[in-house]
Amino acid sequence: MKTTGGIAAVVIVLAAGALGWLYFEGRLDREKPVIQLDSDISAIGRKKDIGITFADERSGLSGLKVEIVQDNKPHLLAEETFPSRSTRQKVLRLSVEPLTLQMNNGPAVVRITARDASFFKNETVVSEQVRIDTVPPQVYVLCPVNYINQGGAGFIPYRTSKPAALSGVFVDERFYPGYNIVIGGKPTSVAFFALETGAAAATKIVIFARDNAGNETRTSMPFTIKPKKFRADKVNLSGTFLQQIMPEFQATIPQLQGKTPAEAFGYVNTTLREENAKTILSVCRKSINKRLWEGAFHRMRNAASMALFGDQRTYLVDGKPFGSSVHLGVDLASTAHAPIEAANHGIVVFAGPLGIYGNAVIIDHGLGLFSLYGHLSAIETTVGKNVKKEEKIGASGLSGLAGGDHLHFSILIDGQFVNPQEWWDPHWIEDNVMKKMAI
Ligand SMILES: [Zn+2]
Repeated sequence: MKTTGGIAAVVIVLAAGALGWLYFEGRLDREKPVIQLDSDISAIGRKKDIGITFADERSGLSGLKVEIVQDNKPHLLAEETFPSRSTRQKVLRLSVEPLTLQMNNGPAVVRITARDASFFKNETVVSEQVRIDTVPPQVYVLCPVNYINQGGAGFIPYRTSKPAALSGVFVDERFYPGYNIVIGGKPTSVAFFALETGAAAATKIVIFARDNAGNETRTSMPFTIKPKKFRADKVNLSGTFLQQIMPEFQATIPQLQGKTPAEAFGYVNTTLREENAKTILSVCRKSINKRLWEGAFHRMRNAASMALFGDQRTYLVDGKPFGSSVHLGVDLASTAHAPIEAANHGIVVFAGPLGIYGNAVIIDHGLGLFSLYGHLSAIETTVGKNVKKEEKIGASGLSGLAGGDHLHFSILIDGQFVNPQEWWDPHWIEDNVMKKMAI
């Protein structure tokens, strides 16, 4: 018993010694705490959110302090002490509101201090030079918008009183980014935007600008919506049609194996249609900062319009409604395997299979404007290629959700479908875009 007790005592002494060593070793730390800002704070607007991470791995933090100093006058933003010495890391989020602090526009310094819990009280001080700017950018609209068609496009050129980090147009909640170009020898921003086919009279168009300091301006833009009549039709899905069309989808989509053609159509018309819309949106989110197109868009030669933009389709199976869709392009048909040509100058940004659109090509025409060509039997271009107006890019066909050989043609603005009719019309382009580009 005695021996066991002796061993236990030795073990306890050794353990205490080790713990004591660990404790002192930690507290003999000469390393300074680490301070890291999570974003650039060189410009501070009316309200600036700042995230700071403080860390001291060995002895832990004992205190921190954040101040903003202007004309030798410090304003305390945060101060904390950590008596337990067990805080290895602290993430601090705070907001600076210079107007509330009665600070002036101009230079200031954000001073961040952290001290550790070692015997040496190691201290790190970070001083960030900042510029306080609480003046929001002003937006000058160069010309009014007047009328916009339901399902149509709008165009606004505007200038800002100072460089904007981000600007564009909101149509209700949907944001269309502005592009910086030169008009009349002066830097100007322009934004194309779209109105949905069902856009209500209460739709709001707002020009938005945010400067480098985060100050924001929203300027309402008065305009009038021109109502447009869209067609509604019923499409009978015969057994023969479904049996012809669905195997193409069933061969590539595992979920559709073993389903009836009608069930497969239900999936294609909802889930696949939504997936394709997302792909198109992501392809069209990045556009070249330059107008590549010139004049009216080229319409497929000798082709009849089979379906129009905005057609509301109700599908019928055995006479009963079986899903619906809104047709967001124009269907054009001439002869089978007819040549398909680029509607205008641009850069090919998509070329390949695209679900319901079959083999498809998307061309970026710059400043957010795109054209899409669907149901092709052959694609004769590649992603990244510069194409000229009327250059051949493929041949018409019936790939995807198509009952006969035709071209599905769409125009998009930042991924939102608009009526191609406007872009085929030289007068509409002249009045709504080119005159405003010439200001
Ligand atoms: Zn179509």
